[in-house]
Order: sequence, then C-alpha cells, then structure tokens
Amino acid sequence: MTGSAPLEILNDVFGYESFRGPQQGIIEHLIAGGDALVLMPTGGGKSLCYQIPAIARQRAGRGVTVVVSPLIALMHDQVGALHEAGVAAAFLNSSLSLEQSQEVQGRLQRAELTLLYVAPERLNTSRMLDALSRLHERGLLSLFAIDEAHCVSQWGHDFRPEYRGLSLLHEQFPSVPRVALTATADHITRQDMVERLQLGAARQFVSSFDRPNIRYTIVEKTDPMRQLLRFIEGEHEGEAGIVYCQSRKRVEEVAQQLQAAGVKALAYHAGLETALRQQRQDRFLREDGMVMVATIAFGMGIDKPDVRFVAHLDMPKNIEGYYQETGRAGRDGLAADAWMAYGLQDVVNQRRMIDASEVASEEFKHVMRGKLDALLGLAEGTGCRRVSLLGYFGETSGACMNCDNCLQPPALWDATEAGRKLLSCIYRVQQASGLSFGAGHLMDILRGKRTDKVLQYGHEGLSTFGIGADLSETQWRGVLRQLIARDMVRVDSEGMSTLSLLPAARGLLLGQGQLLLRQSAEPAARTRQRQVRTSARGLAEASLNAGALERLQRLKAWRAEVAREHNLPAFVIFHDATLRAIAQLNPQQLRALEGVSGMGAKKLQAYGADVVRVCTELA
Ligand code: ADP
Ligand code: ZN
Repeated sequence: MTGSAPLEILNDVFGYESFRGPQQGIIEHLIAGGDALVLMPTGGGKSLCYQIPAIARQRAGRGVTVVVSPLIALMHDQVGALHEAGVAAAFLNSSLSLEQSQEVQGRLQRAELTLLYVAPERLNTSRMLDALSRLHERGLLSLFAIDEAHCVSQWGHDFRPEYRGLSLLHEQFPSVPRVALTATADHITRQDMVERLQLGAARQFVSSFDRPNIRYTIVEKTDPMRQLLRFIEGEHEGEAGIVYCQSRKRVEEVAQQLQAAGVKALAYHAGLETALRQQRQDRFLREDGMVMVATIAFGMGIDKPDVRFVAHLDMPKNIEGYYQETGRAGRDGLAADAWMAYGLQDVVNQRRMIDASEVASEEFKHVMRGKLDALLGLAEGTGCRRVSLLGYFGETSGACMNCDNCLQPPALWDATEAGRKLLSCIYRVQQASGLSFGAGHLMDILRGKRTDKVLQYGHEGLSTFGIGADLSETQWRGVLRQLIARDMVRVDSEGMSTLSLLPAARGLLLGQGQLLLRQSAEPAARTRQRQVRTSARGLAEASLNAGALERLQRLKAWRAEVAREHNLPAFVIFHDATLRAIAQLNPQQLRALEGVSGMGAKKLQAYGADVVRVCTELA
C-alpha cells in the first residue's frame, strides 16, 4: 500500500510536506545501513531522523529498531505519539507490570514492532541482550538509535554512567547500523562521545545550532522575584514556560511566590518523590499555560512544542547547559523568549562549586572553569548574544536583531580606571594585612565607608580608601564581575569567598588594555519593548477572522477531550499549528484535509470525520 521512500513516509505517516535541514541526508544514510552521529539543536527534528529509517527498514523486512533513551518518564508519551501516527512501537521500562513487559517481549521476538524504546540500564541486562541476539540471528535487528548521546560523556552536563555500557552494542552487533543523536556538544564532548561509543567511522551530520525564533535577554539581577514577575506578567501572561533555579529550596520558594502572584506554577526537583514528579510533569505537558519552576533535573526530552519562555533565575554552569535549557522554548517555531537574570553572587557561587569539589580532578576543574568563563563572557558581553552563543559551538554568524543587545545596544562606560582601582585595592589590602577579603569589604574601602571591619583592620589608612566614592555599589559589582570574567581576579573557595589577584591582572595594572562595561539596564527600557511586542499566541490568533477563531476554540475543546481519553498530551493529537490551519481552511469534507501539515494518513482516518464535523456544526 504505502511506499517506503523517505519522503512518502514523511508525507503519509507524519503529514509533513518536506524535510528540514539535513534530515533527508541522515535518513538516507541510515536506510542504506551507515552509522551516523547527529548534532542538531533542540527542536531541530531529531526524532524523525531515526523514526523514518526505522519505518522504511521495517517495511523492507529488516525488523526492529531499538531506541536507547534515558527518558523513562516520557517513553509513554513518545510511544503514544507513534501510535497516533499508526506506527507499531512499545517501550520496556520499570513502569510496566510483569504481564505487560512479557507482552512487549513477545512482540519484540515476533518482530512486530517498528520501534522499541529502552532505558540503557535495561539494555545492558543479559536477558535483553539475549533477546536481541536471537532477533539478530534471524536478521531482524534493524538499527540502534542512541538518543541524548551526550549522556555518555563526563564533559557533557548530563553524564549517566549507564551510557558507558553502550559500547557493548558495537562489540556484540557490529553489523547493525547505529545512530547517536544529541543537541549538546562542544568540541570536547563530541570527541569523547565518538570515542566512547566507537563511532569513529560514523558519518557526522552537524546542523546549524541557531534557533532564530528565540530571543535572548540577559539582565542584571537586582530584585530577582520582582524582575521575574514583571517579565512573566508583562510578556507571557497565561503562557507555558520554565523557570530554572539552582537549588531545590529556591525552586520551592519561587514556585510559591509565583502562585501567590496568581501564576499557575508548579515546583519540580530531584528531591520530590517519583510519583509526584511524574504527576507535575504530566500536568505541565497536558494543561495549558503552566509554568514549571525547576532545577535542571527537569526538561531533558520535554517535547512540548508551545513553551513560550525559559527563564533562568540563577546562572547555569556553562553554555551547553544554558543552550540546551533555553532550547526548550519555542519548538513550534513561533516567537519565544530566553531570559536570564544574573549577578555577582552567581559568579562567586559557580566558581566556588568548581573549586570546592573534592572528587573532581585538576584537569576536570580546569575544563569546568574554562566553560564557566565562556558563559561569563556571554553574560557580560555587549555584542550580539547569538553571535557569541553560536561562536561557542564553532559557528560564525551576523548580528541577529533578536536579542537584547541587538535590539537595544547597551550604553557603555569606560571602567578602565575603576578596574585599576579595584585591582590595586585588592593588592594593597593583601599587602597590608596578609589577608584576603570578600567583595563587600573591598567595596566599603573603595567607597570610603568607615565600617567596624574597616576600622578593625585599619583599612581607612590605605591609599585606596575612598578613591571610588564616585561609583555606586552596583557599578562596583559590575566592575568586579568583569574582572572575574576576564580571569584577573580569583574568588577563593575556602570559607569566605575572598578575592585575590591573578596573573592576568598585571596588564591592566600596568596601564594596558581597556574595560568597557554596560550601563545598568533601566527597567523602563523593558516596558517599552513590552508595548511593541504582542505575545506569539496573540500574533498568531490575531491573524484569524472571527469565524476561524471560533472554530479554533471548538477544535481545541475537541482535542482536549480526545487527549484525555487517550491519556496523552494534547499536542500529541495535533499541534496548535495544525488546528489553526484547519480552523482557517474550514473544511467541509474529508478530502479538504489532505495535505494539512501534521495530518498524516492515520490521523486523517482516525480523526478526519470528527474534525470536519466540529467545523461544519458551526456554520
Ligand atoms: P528534537 O528531538 O530535535 O528536539 P523533535 O524531533 O522533537 O526535535 O522535533 C521538533 C518538532 O518539529 C516536532 O514537533 C516535530 O514534529 C517537528 N518536525 C520535525 N521535522 C519536521 C518536518 N520535516 N516538517 C515539519 N515539522 C517537523
Ligand atoms: Zn543579536
């Protein structure tokens, strides 16, 4: 009946018109039996890169594709989405009863499945490997897809020791093609991944990492809760988003404060019971307009397409983490925001965490410090954020006109002199007392404050006492952040986060180089921006006329009902974009629905008549 050419499968099964970026090349390479390493940003469309080869190879009699994924909590929905598209898929993980698990094993042995999702720890069991060997002997083990492949590397930010066992696949089944996929990978992680998974001979497909619909904004942290509320209420009222915080405690606090302010917010972190975590994740996926406040324990594999913003209330560890987390916004391609508030304390905390680690080797710490520096460079930078981000992944690009620095180039001030004053203050204090002090004390000296501590150490007698009274504390903090970001000042880990000079400070002290800093952002600037910008949803729905809008509401209500019946998130039934296209089209008969993006053959058959009925009932 249906053919097995990639484009036909894309059209018939998934209802999409054409391939995106490098998808087609990857798919053809895998169908032909090659190995591949796929690097594509979050939302780039990685799933189809192995799902279409799995379907094509199964139709050609080659059997089952095994997908290795760490995302047990999401397997149910992923498999559900494939069922909706008419693809035979199943998962094996600890959430299944013995009976269910045996049923899946049976279908696997009969090679009735097109895709089987398993967690790596499950795959590494002798029982599972035996089952795969039996399939393999009959020529019915088609392909291995290793999703979130960066989990194999300690340099990535999601290291999972169970992934190390996956090198076994190649040893035991050398003739079965493998594809490893990830959205994270700077150079060092990529190399490590190739080595660990023995993918040296695999073809590498590296896409552009740009996500043009995401607007990047990094603000100075002054009153984080108020800043966050202003951001959400001003620009994303009633929309789905994720707020990342550093600690579990902070997650709870922020979620409570958002709830108190009337935002539909949930808390999520690894300290909660599995059942509660699953329940909150399901609510986030299934209900409209939920805000998830979370540690980085949340988010991997979350494929909700209409997350309109990702906010960071604390600075992440490195650019990979930041980019992966922010990439969860705007998978549907509509406008979305990545917003971060960051301050001196973030820099100090992150440095301290690296330095204080007792398990990490010196080499590891060195790499981690380098990665943190790159992120500081991004946060402090005055040029296009996207240019810096993409540059970090080895891509060159031009100013994007969709980040804060492009839209409102920051006013700069020359902080060279101030930087010198701060450095020499650190030097004098150390010389005078043989001790190092923290940021607060140094600023008191510079600003000429006779605090108890200043008097206790006699620091009012230093030549640097009061030489910086002309600058505010906020300005001094900016100067200090910049000095830390440029590796001129070190924050010590033992005890008090005291400051000391690093060799790179010499140049500036000797009169070389320049420090240009951004002026502190005026809150008013953000307000202006808010007025000219309607939310993504507002924009998209404004383009529909009244009749279409009404149809859209009816279609959404119908979809919600179906989603509940199937116990799946609404977007798995149809994406918003598909419903919008249908509402606009106003189909009067089944045939009119053919070719609507997201309407595959199975969905047309299962839902087409209902969709037409919902539309015509209105007329
Ligand atoms: P990733 O795993 O790379 O983060 P997904 O595989 O979840 O991304 O794809 C992101 C979204 O893009 C999904 O909603 C998917 O259905 C959609 N998509 C992928 N490829 C295409 C395509 N060729 N045409 C239209 N939509 C696509
Ligand atoms: Zn820009």
